[in-house]
Amino acid sequence: MKLSIRQRLTLWYTLVLMASLVAFAGVIFFGGAWQLQRGVDQELRQTARLLAPTLTGSDEPVLVDTAYRLLKPDGQVLYASGLPVRRVPITPAALAAARRGQMHLETIRLGPASNVQGQTLVPPLRVLTVPLGTPVTLILQVGKAETDIPRLRSLLLVTLLIALALGLPLAALGGWWLAGRALNPVRAMTQAANRIEARNLAERLPQPSQDDELGQLAGTLNGLLDRLQAAFQRERRFTADVSHDLRTPLAVMKSTVGVVLNRPRSAEDLRGTLVEVDDQIDQVSGLLDATLFLSRADDDELRRSFIPLDLSELLTDLVETTAPYADEERRQDLTGEIAAGLRVNGDRDQLTRLFLNLLDNAMRYTPAGGAIRVTGWAVGGQAVVAVADNGVGIAPDDLPHIFERFYRADKARSAGTRGSYGLGLSIAQAVAHVHGGEISVVSELGKGSTFTVSLPTVSPAAEKRPRA
Ligand code: ADP
Repeated sequence: MKLSIRQRLTLWYTLVLMASLVAFAGVIFFGGAWQLQRGVDQELRQTARLLAPTLTGSDEPVLVDTAYRLLKPDGQVLYASGLPVRRVPITPAALAAARRGQMHLETIRLGPASNVQGQTLVPPLRVLTVPLGTPVTLILQVGKAETDIPRLRSLLLVTLLIALALGLPLAALGGWWLAGRALNPVRAMTQAANRIEARNLAERLPQPSQDDELGQLAGTLNGLLDRLQAAFQRERRFTADVSHDLRTPLAVMKSTVGVVLNRPRSAEDLRGTLVEVDDQIDQVSGLLDATLFLSRADDDELRRSFIPLDLSELLTDLVETTAPYADEERRQDLTGEIAAGLRVNGDRDQLTRLFLNLLDNAMRYTPAGGAIRVTGWAVGGQAVVAVADNGVGIAPDDLPHIFERFYRADKARSAGTRGSYGLGLSIAQAVAHVHGGEISVVSELGKGSTFTVSLPTVSPAAEKRPRA
């Protein structure tokens, strides 16, 4: 059977209340019975103390309101007053104790008295056996009916039954109401969550006024929604940006081809057009390539193919191949100072792309005659690589945004630049992150920029371990 939380809470509440009522009644009954019996026992001892002297002097007691009888040590009854021998047996245990000179207390349960009218229940009898004289010459037995204990039991039973009969429905109702009240915020949250979908991701769950467990749950879920909404907006903007950047080269191609198709053209004209179209195709495929790379860069699958590799070697190769280009094409001085033996766990192609993007930017945003310097060293388990230029620098307003996808600081200038989509630094950052590293920038407008990448290094010991 499937019970709702509200039903379960009510059930538990009622059961616990019932159990406590019964336990409470039990404690009162046993405690009360013990107290009552103690009272009876004391009374019996008192009576025995009163009776003993008169009986040993073979005198009859003056006035006794307690039943008693006098026995010989062998159990023969000498005298009985109110303790009928036939109905109240002399137990061997009491007799044996008395012969040994010890007092003995016992409870004797009598059968129903059938000789009276109908069958009447007789209360249990408490009997005290006292040896008299040393050595024992007589045995005194005093007895008292424990009438109060059965009375207490029935009183408690009736009270308990009434309490249960009246209290339980009330408790169940109260429990139902309380559980409903406590669960109200949950219902509100469920309704709000049902309303939230991709179109209204800005809506949030109602936050209960107190900062209790439900308040914290709502806060946590709202935090999750915040992140989801941000991710969703980022993806949406990304798609819009990609589409926009794809449209421009496609429109250029379309119009170039359209113009050529208008009328017959010479082979020379056609060639020129094809070169232009080829250029635009490069643009499109470059953009698609970058987009694809970004969408895969944070895939966990990639991390599994990481292998320990020599970062020093990778950087040295990169500097050596780009320096001639920087020198010839841009009149820039590109130098490297890389410590040997920097080893990181990673993917060669991705890391090449990361540093190539940084070098590409450095060359692009540094005027002819500038200098670009790549330095690599190891600090506390990290390989730190800095790519510094003395180029145009980045304005403080742009600095926080340059790692965002499609962000270009100087839109007018870089928009026309080939291969500039505003994705280079996003890719660099994504690669650094999958490698467990970080990328940061320090820049001053007109003075230059320094991009610093830190990646965790692998210790030679870790490398020697066989790969699973
Ligand atoms: P882009 O494809 O436009 O280079 P990036 O993501 O690589 O895109 O860079 C984002 C922006 O950051 C660039 O448009 C540029 O304004 C700025 N930037 C990046 N690197 C440098 C640098 N070394 N010097 C000056 N500005 C830079």
